[in-house]
Amino acid sequence: MTDDPFASAAAAGIHRLAIPTPFAVGRVNVYLIEDDPLTLVDAGPNSGTSFDVLQRGVAGLGHSLEEIELVIVTHQHIDHLGLVSLVASHSDAQVAALEAAIPFMENFSDEAQADDDFARDIMLRNGISQDVVSALQSVSAAFRGWGAPVHVTLPLRDGEPLELRDRTLHVHHRPGHSPSDTIFHDRERRMLIAADHLLGHISSNPLITRPRDGSSGRPQALVQYLESLRATREMDVELVLPGHGDAFTDHRKLIDQRFALHARRADKIHRLLVEQPRSAYEIAQALWGNIAVTQAYLTLSEVLGHLDVLANEGRVQEVERDGVSVFRAR
Ligand SMILES: [Zn+2]
Repeated sequence: MTDDPFASAAAAGIHRLAIPTPFAVGRVNVYLIEDDPLTLVDAGPNSGTSFDVLQRGVAGLGHSLEEIELVIVTHQHIDHLGLVSLVASHSDAQVAALEAAIPFMENFSDEAQADDDFARDIMLRNGISQDVVSALQSVSAAFRGWGAPVHVTLPLRDGEPLELRDRTLHVHHRPGHSPSDTIFHDRERRMLIAADHLLGHISSNPLITRPRDGSSGRPQALVQYLESLRATREMDVELVLPGHGDAFTDHRKLIDQRFALHARRADKIHRLLVEQPRSAYEIAQALWGNIAVTQAYLTLSEVLGHLDVLANEGRVQEVERDGVSVFRAR
């Protein structure tokens, strides 16, 4: 027995490289799959440091970035896709991503700006002050340089297999953390490349993101995420390879813990609303106290997600007061 949580993955030719990011989440996991084609899953954020670490990591495994033949992108977040184009240009690699995510990835800057505009409206609508919104908008604009457009040459579809020489990865769309979350299931080895859909050490943020179908309403990210988790819970998996942190086993137990956590949080929010009606931001403050500016949208997304769950159950009602949404228990 070994203590390395990635040992059985490495034995199957899947090697984890932990690439630094400037974000609170810390390092991001990139996986090199020694197969034909030689495959990289995600690439890390677009920075010189990250590129160096990636290059050295791949070299340490006896390969070079020039040899990469396929890069798979798990979702649209910049800590995962920032370096994809640079890697592909070094190697002429194919780039695979969920078909539905292609418009976002190819027009990254405009799409990211539109997402920020959407987020701004959600924040103002839910009681976050203009000061905080403006500060967060500048942080987000500054971070955008860690992303980059991605030209996708191999569109992936939900439910379809991606065939490599020594393995078949079944592609599953699992929206919730982002609209484009995609997981890759090796049924034979019972391994799941889960990216940020399921993390061992932290619960994934159900980030509210601009709907991709052109509709103007606020998507129910947490509701969608819980649905995605239910689908993943049914899968036959021994080892999960996440987008951050260590590999882990017993995904059903972990998913059940996440369900319990979310149920507890929804109940707590309901109790706060029994006391008095509140905006989503007031609920976030009641739950977590003074929230750092950079965390304002994450925590708001979390609260709104629970309010969606409660509203769907008929336990809360949304009313408007002076342009701000206020929620009350019913
Ligand atoms: Zn992510």
